[in-house]
Amino acid sequence: MLFTVGGAVLPRSEQAARRSESSVYTARGALWVIIYLLFVLAPMFALLFGAHPPARAFWTEFSVAIGYAGLAIMGLQFGLTARFRYVTEPWGEDVIYHFHRQISLVAVALVIAHPIILFIIRPELLALLNSITAPWRARFAALSTYSLIAIVVMALWRTKLRLSYEAWHISHVVLAVVAVVAGIAHMVGWSFYFGDPWKRWLWIALTAFWLGLLVYVRIFKPLFVLRRPYRITEVRKERGETWTLLMEPEGHAGFRFRPGQFGWLTVYGSPFKVSSHPFSFSSSAANGDGKVAMSIRKLGDFTSKIDEVPVGRRVYLDGPYGAFTIGHPADMHVLVAGGVGITPMMSMLSTLADEGDRRPVVLLYGSKTWDDITFREELEALKARLNLTIVHVLENPPEGWTGERGFIDAEVLGRHLPPPYGEHEYFICGPGVMMDAVESALAELRVPISKYHSERYSFV
Ligand SMILES: Cc1cc2nc3c(=O)[nH]c(=O)nc-3n(C[C@H](O)[C@H](O)[C@H](O)COP(=O)(O)OP(=O)(O)OC[C@H]3O[C@@H](n4cnc5c(N)ncnc54)[C@H](O)[C@@H]3O)c2cc1C
Repeated sequence: MLFTVGGAVLPRSEQAARRSESSVYTARGALWVIIYLLFVLAPMFALLFGAHPPARAFWTEFSVAIGYAGLAIMGLQFGLTARFRYVTEPWGEDVIYHFHRQISLVAVALVIAHPIILFIIRPELLALLNSITAPWRARFAALSTYSLIAIVVMALWRTKLRLSYEAWHISHVVLAVVAVVAGIAHMVGWSFYFGDPWKRWLWIALTAFWLGLLVYVRIFKPLFVLRRPYRITEVRKERGETWTLLMEPEGHAGFRFRPGQFGWLTVYGSPFKVSSHPFSFSSSAANGDGKVAMSIRKLGDFTSKIDEVPVGRRVYLDGPYGAFTIGHPADMHVLVAGGVGITPMMSMLSTLADEGDRRPVVLLYGSKTWDDITFREELEALKARLNLTIVHVLENPPEGWTGERGFIDAEVLGRHLPPPYGEHEYFICGPGVMMDAVESALAELRVPISKYHSERYSFV
């Protein structure tokens, strides 16, 4: 597939550069997977070297091994959420958070299976559940396990428990630290495998490393963000209960982002508070002057007061993040947006227009009503600068509407996209139900998974 800009095929060197960028991402992704596995398994296998006590029954050893593995996975969770751009780039933040959630279930299952196996093979150990009479090492084990169970319950049923995002986030971090530190205290206290002092120090150093990641996220990163503030220059009302905040860097050059990426915005308080929210950039990535825009729809505690943010206010931006971005080989771009999912698409379209890209772009855009269509006029204006087709799909269309109605599904896609479907590059962002429907429609159209990119607006 050829890359073109402004209708002209990009020079061979540029084409090769874009292709090699994607292979570098794949290689980097593979390298991080290997490093991840090493961090989980190596500290456990290291215990087998040097002096160690005579082997015990298979199930005892097995239960200890899975306990070690569970704890190592838990510790590495601090790394997964540390927002290291270099680590997350090959996949995108949402995939990393998804992995963080799923792997935590595996870790908790391993940690819980550890005592259960021991209780089954040696029922006399059940006495250790009595925290009044049990030794400290067993109390730490109980504390670690209960904290892990609390983490899972609160994460899975946060909304049912009516926990605000902020309250949940703080307790999540505190419980995670308690779980890991108590887990390591249990291990060191038992010290069965720690005959050689270096093994004990290896695990203590590992714990210090995990907690160091937390210190990096909570102290060093916010410090960096604090030193690079932004100023709100305009708060603009858009259609569909959405407001655009325009921001410019204050005393620094800002950062460069790629269209479709997002940043964490802190409007009230400092970056040290757990109060930042993720929003896609809605402005062009091609201007290079450091100014950025975010378009925010009223939804909950923070966003419902977005129109009250005063012009001139100092805010903080941590970014850019995310792998939901154009720049892959494609004959045409297909953007599928629902509601406020239009924001990253707006950035992609403005960037393509600013770069003079003349490849065809089809935007399928689902909104509730005609009046609700965020950026309706701006999108229309972009048609003059792009080879752009816009298909509005309205849930409640006005009388006499002859366009698409209902929701974006396989039929709507089939009516507006030219084959070969597998050659286009797809970007999907909107409500979960719409994204699920579009993803399965693309699978039906035999579009390879590598050809579509999804951005889900919820990490938790
Ligand atoms: C990658 C990404 C890009 C996004 N881009 C946009 C955008 O361009 N425009 C837009 O309007 N919305 C966007 N969102 C959604 C936006 O982040 C949430 O709507 C907003 O954080 C809700 O906060 P609230 O306090 O108003 O609502 P609440 O009612 O408190 O929360 C609603 C839901 O939003 C999520 N949420 C709340 N606070 C946070 C937080 N601090 N961090 C992460 N998730 C949180 C939780 O799942 C919560 O249940 C994006 C989300 C993600 C993940």
